Order: sequence, then C-alpha cells, then structure tokens
Amino acid sequence: MKNRRPDAADSDTIAAIATPPGRGGVGIVRVSGPGVPAIARAMLGQCPPPRKAVHQDFRSPEGDVLDQGIAIYFQAPNSFTGEDVLEFQAHGGPVVLQLILKAVLACGARLARPGEFSERAFLNDKLDLVQAEAIADLINASTEQAARSALRSLQGEFSQKIQGFVERLIELRVYVEAAMDFPEEEVDFLADGHIESRLSDLAAALAELYESGRQGALLREGMTAVIAGKPNAGKSSLLNAMSGRESAIVTPVPGTTRDMVKETIDLKGIPLQIIDTAGLRQSDDVVEKIGIERALKVIGEADVLLLVVDGHEPMPESAEHYWRAITGQPLPALPRLWIRNKADLMGLPAHQSEWHGERMLTLSAATGDGIDMLRQVLQELAGVHHTGESPLMARERHLQAIRQARQAVDDALHQLQVHKAGELVAEELRRAQDSLSIITGEFSPDDLLGEIFSSFCIGK
Ligand code: GDP
Repeated sequence: MKNRRPDAADSDTIAAIATPPGRGGVGIVRVSGPGVPAIARAMLGQCPPPRKAVHQDFRSPEGDVLDQGIAIYFQAPNSFTGEDVLEFQAHGGPVVLQLILKAVLACGARLARPGEFSERAFLNDKLDLVQAEAIADLINASTEQAARSALRSLQGEFSQKIQGFVERLIELRVYVEAAMDFPEEEVDFLADGHIESRLSDLAAALAELYESGRQGALLREGMTAVIAGKPNAGKSSLLNAMSGRESAIVTPVPGTTRDMVKETIDLKGIPLQIIDTAGLRQSDDVVEKIGIERALKVIGEADVLLLVVDGHEPMPESAEHYWRAITGQPLPALPRLWIRNKADLMGLPAHQSEWHGERMLTLSAATGDGIDMLRQVLQELAGVHHTGESPLMARERHLQAIRQARQAVDDALHQLQVHKAGELVAEELRRAQDSLSIITGEFSPDDLLGEIFSSFCIGK
C-alpha cells in the first residue's frame, strides 16, 4: 500500500454520526474498522451479509431496543475506507442517533476525528489526496459549477493530470541520468536540443495547469464584495438585480451577532459573497462593538468595495467621506467601484466612466441596464477569464506545489543552457517531481495530512 505510513498502528474501530445535526427522516451512524463484525453481532444479533440492506432492531449491548432501521455491512476491502464498515440508517433525530452512537462506543469503537473516514480511505489507497479533498469541496460547493469541478476531481481528472506530469518528469530524469552514465558523451547528449525543448514544453504546460487551477480556486473560494450606500440609494435593488431569481443560491445569512448581513450569489459559477454594511453603526453597546470589529476585519479582507449612490443626488465629496457617513468607520483599503444607480431616471444609458480617477459604473438596478457590465467588471477584478478548458478545482496548496514545480523546471532549463550541468538538471527535475507528488499525497509529510483531514467535518 503506497499511502500507508510504515509506522501506522493497527487501526481502532471508529464511529460517528455521518448526517448533519438536526432532525430529518433518516440519520446515519457510520462505523469503520476491524471491530465492525463484533459490533454488528452485539447490536443486530448478526453480521449482515455484505452490501445487503437488512431491516433490523438496533439494540444496546444490554439488549434494549434503541430504534429500528436499515443496517448495511460493507466487507473490507470493498468499502469507502477499505476497512469493514457498518452503517446504521436510523430515524434522524439527535437523541436516537446519540443513543446508537453511544451503544457503538460501548461495544469498543471510539469517536472518529474530523475527516478520519476519508483519511483511512486515503491510507488504504481508496483515494489519493486530491480526491479526498474533492469530497470536502463537493460537500462545501456553493455553485453548480464548483460542484461539477469538484466531482471531476473526485473522479480522478485532476490526479491523472498531475500523474501525467510526474511521468513526463520521470522520463526526462531517466534520459538525463542515462546521459550522465556516459561522461564522454554527456555534453553531446545535453547539447542536442532534445532535453531543452522538452523542458520548455513542460514549463509551458505547467503554466497552463497553474492557470486552470487558479480559475478553479476562484470557483471554490469565490470573491467577496462589500456594498455600502445611503438608504434608498438602491442597494437591495442592486442585489436583487445581480442575483436574478434563478441564480440566487443562498438566502441571507444573518451574522451570529448583529454584525453583518451576508448573501452569496452566483456570478457565472463563481460564488460572489456580498456583505451589506447595514449593520455597521456607531454604538456603545459592548456586544455590538465586538460585532462591528469582526465585521470590519471581514470587510478588510474583501476583494472589492461597491459604493452605491443615487444618481439623482450630488456625488459625495470622496469615498472616505461617504463610507464614514454610512458606517462611521475609516475607509478600508480595498479596490473600489462607484455604482451610480438610477440611470433610467437620469435618462442615461448604462456606461463606465472615471470620477476623480476612480472607476464608476452608471446603471439602473430597476431596469437591469448595466447589470451585465457590472458582472463583467467584477469577474475581471476577480481575475476570471475563460480558457476554454474547464477549470481544475485547485486549492492554494496545489497552486503552490505547481508553482514550485514550474520553478524547478525553469531552474533545470537554466542549468542546462548556462552550465551544461547534467547532474544539476537531474536534481532540479527530482525537485519538480517531489513538488507535484505532494499534491496527490504520494510524497507528503504527515503533518500536512493531519492538517488537511482535520479541516473536514466529523463523519466524513
Ligand atoms: P436601499 O435602501 O439602498 O436598499 O434601496 P432600495 O433598493 O430599497 O431602493 C430604494 C428605492 O429606489 C426603491 O423605491 C426602488 O424601487 C428605487 N430604485 C432602486 N434602484 C432604482 C433604479 O435603478 N431606478 C429607479 N427608477 N428606481 C430605483
């Protein structure tokens, strides 16, 4: 098993409630590990035949009936984790599920850590690291396009691409190292242009891969816009016009305190989170002050500020002035866009212009004139452009690894062209290969694995 660490202990049996908290028709308790058959016998009276749904009483070790439902047994290695797995599909109430979980723990299982099921799937070579991450991305996807991209990664598309690059690097290394075994011919080997052209192709292909990954990262992470304007400037109308009924995917999420209102809309597949500054008021209330501080921190990390003004009214003195009047706070240092709304009332067509050196869009939230232009500008600010190919669902760590691989290939090219040094070329190629192998987890330090899986939720 290539992913299994040599020092891995024989695994305990782990259990968790796999369905989200709350009440529902069905709730699932998932158990994985060598103790599964014994737990099944204790709680179901038998270990069910593999992959057959059986309707059964679920009992505590003392013999009390806790619920009745469907149990499914997946025999190792034909399961999600690669171990023996048992799923209790019970009635979806928090108390019932807790009772079943408690019984499973009493039978010798322990509570699973977040992401531990996926981690075991990885360690048993059921998934590589990119695929395990894709599960989390699929669950967390907030637009259809993001979900589709995550699914393609889960099905192995991203991993195969990386694998293709690793194979190209291995071939090149073999070629260069073979040349080094014949020192008298080495210089000719290195000078015949063959390696050089392959290295250049590789660098260009890595740059393309990086770009595709960067576009995918946008799908995952999206962008955040902060919207501010005086009452009646047309902020709500603008939000509605931008979301359009069909693409509005998330209803407003009220903050935990009175701090801010967030809404996510689908900007051609990119989740655009809009933070409304309505809650930002000067206040002496301690709790509210904390909320405002938190909101300001989020706002400070946003990607763009939309300052909405009623086109009928005179333009404010400055952005600083306007923001202060609305929020009572200093203006954050963000790229900003002025939205001069109600163009229809001014008898103006939608257009872009400059106002005191700042970018301004004149549009009408009511008629929708200029909304496409705004979407376009926001996409531009996010750095989106369509490459034709579907983007790869990359995470920052993937992008970093691709960047490092690209750098190593560039360095290899440099060693070849300037120093004609085969040994150093080979060394850089090895570095490039290691960087890419980190992506799929073939060559990943344990602390990286811990970090990745611990960000998953329990039961996954
Ligand atoms: P908010 O307080 O900033 O959220 O503003 P609203 O979106 O509630 O809009 C205030 C008023 O202005 C409403 O009566 C809207 O119908 C109107 N309004 C908003 N945008 C436009 C626009 O582009 N043209 C016209 N004619 N009216 C608008």
